[in-house]
Amino acid sequence: MRYAELVKQGQLKLFKAGINNADFDAWILVEKICGISRTEYFVKMHDKVDDKIVTQYFEAIEKRITHYPLQYIVGEWEFMGLPFKVNENVLIPRQDTEVLVEKALEIIEKETEKRKANLSVMDMCTGSGCIGITVAKKCPKALVSCIDISEAALNVAKENAKLNEVKNISFIHSDLYTNVNEKYNIIISNPPYITSEEVEKLMPEVKNFEPRIALDGDEDGLKFYREIIAKSKEHLCENGYILFEIGYDQGEQVKELLREKGYTGIEVLKDFSGNDRVVIGKRRKMYV
Ligand code: GLN
Repeated sequence: MRYAELVKQGQLKLFKAGINNADFDAWILVEKICGISRTEYFVKMHDKVDDKIVTQYFEAIEKRITHYPLQYIVGEWEFMGLPFKVNENVLIPRQDTEVLVEKALEIIEKETEKRKANLSVMDMCTGSGCIGITVAKKCPKALVSCIDISEAALNVAKENAKLNEVKNISFIHSDLYTNVNEKYNIIISNPPYITSEEVEKLMPEVKNFEPRIALDGDEDGLKFYREIIAKSKEHLCENGYILFEIGYDQGEQVKELLREKGYTGIEVLKDFSGNDRVVIGKRRKMYV
């Protein structure tokens, strides 16, 4: 079989199986499995493909037809220009999360400059580590601790720190703050926030293959915000910032949770699609 046919047949199989973005997915699999770039493809399109590679490619296509996520098949995905290994133990990094990380970077840079001191940053529920590692990489002076209840997820995050050659980072295996003994200047978190009922309605890629533990925010989706905010007093320094990613309809509720605890400067930020996506608050000295 020739490259051109490989691409076409893969696209057709995925399309017939009702996979969204069939063309894109087939391309990514060709690039990954054949080890060629798009440009190389156009030079090689009439060349014969090794039989072993053909078998591997169609095995991957068959896997994708079961709605198994493309990112897990490929094993690596990009987040804010950095590579992250992914497997079924971690949530696949989403573009939506960039808003959270961009805002955190802005605050960290500003505060580092203002205080003339290096900041400590916690990434609570780190998963693949995409948030903590990106922050550590882009703010080499910050000290980042990545926390997760899943040891399997932490192992992926550790590999990702190595992959990105990040050294200003550490990892804590902990159910929320249980094993956390320190206070931080910044807490960032993208906790599980989908209601248990909504999880059932998600696309099969997410519902059947991404870790439920990383998605399910219990009955009203707010369980983790409540718990993280309730005990934030013991883990966030005075004048520290807390930043959350939220679901599109959780802005008001998470804002209220922060307000109740005496946070100030509370802001809700929107994502690229115009949906509420991030909530920030600052810890005041006197109230929290
Ligand atoms: N922090 C990771 C991410 O943003 C994982 C989040 C999670 O598991 N809920 O992708």
